Amino acid sequence: MALYEQYPVHISNSLTGKKEKFEPIHPGQVGMYVCGPTVYNKVHLGNVRTFLTFDVISRYFRYLGYKVRYVRNITDVGHLESDADEGEDKIEKRARLEELEPMEIVKQYTEDFHEVMRQFNILPPSIEPSATGHIVEQIDIIQRLVQKGLAYVVNGSVYFDVKKYNQSWPYGILSGRKIEELMESGRELDSQDEKREKIDFALWKKASASHIMRWPSPWGEGFPGWHIECTVMSTKYLGETFDIHGGGMDLKFPHHECEIAQATGANGKAPVHYWVHSNMLTVNGQKMSKSLGNSFLPQELFSGNHSLLQKGYSPCTVRFFMLQSHYSSTLDFSNEALLAAEKGYRKLGQALKTVKSLEPSVNAKKIRQERTEELQKLVDDCFLNMGDDFNSAKTLAVLFEMSARINDFKSGNISVDEVDPQTFVLFKNTFIGFMEEVLGLVEEVSQDEKLLDNVLHVLIDLRKKAREDRNYALSDKIRDDLKKLGVQLMDGKDGEMSYVIES
Ligand SMILES: [Zn+2]
Repeated sequence: MALYEQYPVHISNSLTGKKEKFEPIHPGQVGMYVCGPTVYNKVHLGNVRTFLTFDVISRYFRYLGYKVRYVRNITDVGHLESDADEGEDKIEKRARLEELEPMEIVKQYTEDFHEVMRQFNILPPSIEPSATGHIVEQIDIIQRLVQKGLAYVVNGSVYFDVKKYNQSWPYGILSGRKIEELMESGRELDSQDEKREKIDFALWKKASASHIMRWPSPWGEGFPGWHIECTVMSTKYLGETFDIHGGGMDLKFPHHECEIAQATGANGKAPVHYWVHSNMLTVNGQKMSKSLGNSFLPQELFSGNHSLLQKGYSPCTVRFFMLQSHYSSTLDFSNEALLAAEKGYRKLGQALKTVKSLEPSVNAKKIRQERTEELQKLVDDCFLNMGDDFNSAKTLAVLFEMSARINDFKSGNISVDEVDPQTFVLFKNTFIGFMEEVLGLVEEVSQDEKLLDNVLHVLIDLRKKAREDRNYALSDKIRDDLKKLGVQLMDGKDGEMSYVIES
């Protein structure tokens, strides 16, 4: 039996507002699309949280034995600066500031993005399509929308007719916004506007004479609107209806609402079964933003070179910190919280190192049923919590319980002989699997820890020597003084000594 049959997954679906049991369209397979970065700037930490969320979701599906096709795009046609299809193209603006070709900007920031993903141990998606590589398909779907009367052409630009669409399908189904309210709120259309209604949105924009990124189309030279690329790339690689669509909360409206309208209008059916949105990052209780001076670049975090940080933190510490809260909650970022995370992560990292050295019992005579059951329950709890809407916070709490047992095995508080070997192996493999494969938390040894390990081994050797010389006063002093510092020395059966750091 595949793990996914044993441990079902429940997802909070933004579309229905309910937690639902995940039922894939194709048994044993998961198709997931996530809106990727617009590559005109360095990735900031808020983006990292979104991509980390979906990294862990795709990792967990794989761990359960699903075949996962994870599509995450690169937006390399600049979105216009405002949601109202106005303003400058973000990539062109950046290109002008840096005196580069738009495609140089795209290459530079795509590479930067990949490097940051690698640093945070965020795995690459199965397919990473780019908007500029799918202009033909975008033109094709826009043509179909025009033919169906759901889009109109004005002066070389094409707009989606929201009111017309709303006659057949409900617009606002994802965000809960009402079309009447949307039509009343905000700025009035002026005579310059090409749109019929202000809720309409651009599918294709005519390129002005100075616009660099441009492609020929049936409506003249221009470039695609903000939302159409995701509709095209998701349905091209995952089908007209697919399992999961993810992205940051800020994309729910208008971006994802427009994606639903475009795909439903063109294909006559809703594109996505489960919509998943990850929440924002705040800093000391405030929204993270460049203008407030509290946004972080990953490099600033690693080096500690930022006014809000006392020191630098490793990528896995930050990863662990983010996974300590559920993806749908806001997450507050502070130096204090990172310090606490660093300490917590170190404990888990040590348990990971320890568990790899533990072997199951070869003596099945002393097996205690309740001990075996306790370990089996911890294993089940990992899956139950992760299967409960990917609750990494609760899963980490279980891993901490497991790490306490691991230390008990190491210190001899519990003997491995008490546990059925099969359950022991399952326990060991589950701890390693959830740490490394599901949560992507790998062993990370800092310079300080390496030094500490070496110093402790010097002390262990001195203690051994003291015992050989029958200087028990000294050997006890070494043991007791270390104990006071929270380091427990253990005498192994074969005369080898090891240590556990308790704090
Ligand atoms: Zn998108």
